[in-house]
Amino acid sequence: MRAAAAGSGAGALRALLLTHLHSDHITDLNDIYTMRWVMSAQPNPLPVYGPTGTAAVVQATEAMLEQDIGYRLTHHGDLQWRPSAEVSEVERGVILEDGAVRISAAPTDHAPVRPTVGYRINDGERSVVIAGDTVPCDGLDELCQGADVLVHTVVRRDLIEQFGLPRLTDVLDYHSSVADAAQTAARHGIGTLVLTHLVPSPAPGTEQEWIDQATTVYGGEVLLATDLLALEVSGPAS
Ligand SMILES: [Zn+2]
Ligand SMILES: [Zn+2]
Repeated sequence: MRAAAAGSGAGALRALLLTHLHSDHITDLNDIYTMRWVMSAQPNPLPVYGPTGTAAVVQATEAMLEQDIGYRLTHHGDLQWRPSAEVSEVERGVILEDGAVRISAAPTDHAPVRPTVGYRINDGERSVVIAGDTVPCDGLDELCQGADVLVHTVVRRDLIEQFGLPRLTDVLDYHSSVADAAQTAARHGIGTLVLTHLVPSPAPGTEQEWIDQATTVYGGEVLLATDLLALEVSGPAS
């Protein structure tokens, strides 16, 4: 639904990129899978890219939807095929080329979640890196070289440590803090850092603290991702 609001209906998606299979990163898969199916005039498999295990998750998602699939096949006389996906389990290197657009993947480090990947999307001039959940690592550095924008999930180490709850403190060892993400961006001279997946959710009025933590170690532009944020990518060609 949010993809449609952003101007990318499920029927027209060229690729769905999954960085890993944690529930908070795949929770909308079933909706995209279903909308792709019912909004297409002919069979239109959903192209899904993700780490090893993605095919099993897509298969299980379809199994979970079995009753819904039955309802819709019964209700829509012109819908005479089942939903489907074309899954590519990826690890490293170029995973998709379409016209000038080239998408590459590299392994990231979100242990004990394994395997995980990040992506770099290049349109022939500009590059955007999608880090996913990861600590700083060689694979992410590989993707970031010469990139223009880095979209990185982050957690606030200072706040999480204050809570002192083991279940929360555990998340620190496999996510980047704001400073970690900013250092990755700084190391590669990236022009814009977009912080997303903010944990814990910023209390209203504290958004600037997140930006300040990044700008202490990074001189580029820092944005906090908001729902439906659209970004014009500019900067040196890479
Ligand atoms: Zn995760
Ligand atoms: Zn996550």
